Amino acid sequence: MNEIAILYFHGLLKDLLRTKRNITLDNKDYKKIIYPVIRSSSIKDIIESLGIPHTEIGGLILNSKKIYFDYILHPTDNIHVYPHIKPIKPDNYLFSQPIQNYRFLVDVNVGRLAKLLRILGYDCAYNPYWDDEFLAQKAYEEKRILLSRDIQLLKRKKVLWGKLILNEDPKSQLKEVIDHFGLKIYYRPFSRCLVCNTELKPVRKKQIFHKLEPKTKRYFNQFALCPRCKKIYWAGSHVEKMEAMIKEIKRRKTNT
Ligand SMILES: [Zn+2]
Repeated sequence: MNEIAILYFHGLLKDLLRTKRNITLDNKDYKKIIYPVIRSSSIKDIIESLGIPHTEIGGLILNSKKIYFDYILHPTDNIHVYPHIKPIKPDNYLFSQPIQNYRFLVDVNVGRLAKLLRILGYDCAYNPYWDDEFLAQKAYEEKRILLSRDIQLLKRKKVLWGKLILNEDPKSQLKEVIDHFGLKIYYRPFSRCLVCNTELKPVRKKQIFHKLEPKTKRYFNQFALCPRCKKIYWAGSHVEKMEAMIKEIKRRKTNT
């Protein structure tokens, strides 16, 4: 009868649990799961079998000591599982590779986040035709943070960095990402192509003059060009709209 371990899920992780196993709510801080230790499994696999992707875990504590995702669960273990403390620290001990730069990759289910992150200047790869296997491989090879609402995708081993997006509205999703990673809202606004993610280059008006609409020719003098898709940008009404959006994001409150 002693072949059981007890797992305590803290904070937001309580709401991510998806299991028919016996859950008891001992207090408002955690949910307790009595887990029969039948075979040798890593704590990562066990937590994910209970519904929580490893990307959402910030700390694992056994007898006041930190343990890692590859720890094999033993009978009588009492393990506390914690979410990330926001803003998430790039050198969190659970990540096998600390991240250097905040570069993103978004899944099709949060596709509108790509453009919003690019408005702020963040490198954000996106293509609605990439499938789960490709996304996980790309995130791994290019050390990108994968943003998705798909729990199964975030459970993949190749996804070292990720975030399960909880909000439904794209602007709230952006605020959720900003708060989670401690991003700068005014990082490098209007420096990146919103269509293809490439960094923009300043361009002289006379070089692109023949491509401009009459009103744009008349009223604007500073332009930037996407070297890849050749889209031309200038400080017109759409930039004003984006600035208003950034201000709104700053004020926005999310539930997470
Ligand atoms: Zn472009």
